[in-house]
Amino acid sequence: MRDVLVRGACVVGLSVSALAGGVSTAIAADEVNVYSYRQPFLVEPLFKAFTQETGIKVNVVHADQGLTERLQREGRNSPADVILTVDIGRLDEAKAADVTQAVESETLEANIPEHFRDPEGHWFGLTTRARIIFAAKDRVDPSQPINYEDLADPKWKGRICTRSGKHVYQIGLLASMIAHHGAEEAEKWLAGVKDNLARKPQGGDRQQAEAISQGVCDIALSNSYYYGHMLDNPEQKPWAEAVNVIFPNQDGRGTHVNISGVSLAKHAPNRENAVKLMEFLSSEQAQEIYAQRNYEYPVKPGVPLAELLRDLGEFKVDDLSLATVAEHREEAFRMVDRVGYDQ
Ligand code: FE
Repeated sequence: MRDVLVRGACVVGLSVSALAGGVSTAIAADEVNVYSYRQPFLVEPLFKAFTQETGIKVNVVHADQGLTERLQREGRNSPADVILTVDIGRLDEAKAADVTQAVESETLEANIPEHFRDPEGHWFGLTTRARIIFAAKDRVDPSQPINYEDLADPKWKGRICTRSGKHVYQIGLLASMIAHHGAEEAEKWLAGVKDNLARKPQGGDRQQAEAISQGVCDIALSNSYYYGHMLDNPEQKPWAEAVNVIFPNQDGRGTHVNISGVSLAKHAPNRENAVKLMEFLSSEQAQEIYAQRNYEYPVKPGVPLAELLRDLGEFKVDDLSLATVAEHREEAFRMVDRVGYDQ
């Protein structure tokens, strides 16, 4: 379901009646309103479980984009209580746009490791996804580990595919490279990766696996959950079957991971229910549903993984704080322009 109002020009008077379920008032003791970039198939089972446990009804607006702008336009009249989104980039954007507020919760702090939440309490990671490497099964030696740094090695000239350098997933990885190596080294690296590209950056992560299956390139970057989604899709299964999954930097700092996460809206009319929902989403029960549905990794340690992820095996995670990654995002954007990565 798409919320067409989000991109509409006429937003005056946009109210909680726009929420699915057609509720008539924003303030009700037994409700909570969610603005979600996450898709219905992911969040519906979670909200159902939450309502069953607490009796609190969850109303949801789904959108692909524009929720931060919508929250800004709505200001104090916004019915939104909780914002669900993906990537540190979008979580940080919402905080910077001043549409979130701090939450102090012992439950959230106990369930979510420190490097996956904002030190000021404006965002909390709920699931993680690794930025992995896909390598052509028949053209890349599977016994050879590959680190992010290696992607700039001239031996991969004409053999790498990625999506746009400005996409949040690529920006997150580049920001982590800046944090680890400094801006100068990171820029050299990015220019080296650009030199190795087989084609102009295009498509999503899955299209890079598709390109490997077609022999366009041999190496690609992708978020980990796409591997599972491709295997589940008869049309895309051959793309996944053409690649090996490599977790980079296992001999050093670990693989870069990003998060999906949650924030409390700045003017949340149902604040107490919103915090209850946020805490529920970090619980073992919700973590298991949430992570398994999208082949993501739970943030709460000890929660069982989807079978496919168990098969891929354990890997070392780069524990660089995502708040630090966020600090380097603007520099990363400028760098992508400077090296003409997408040209
Ligand atoms: Fe994605």
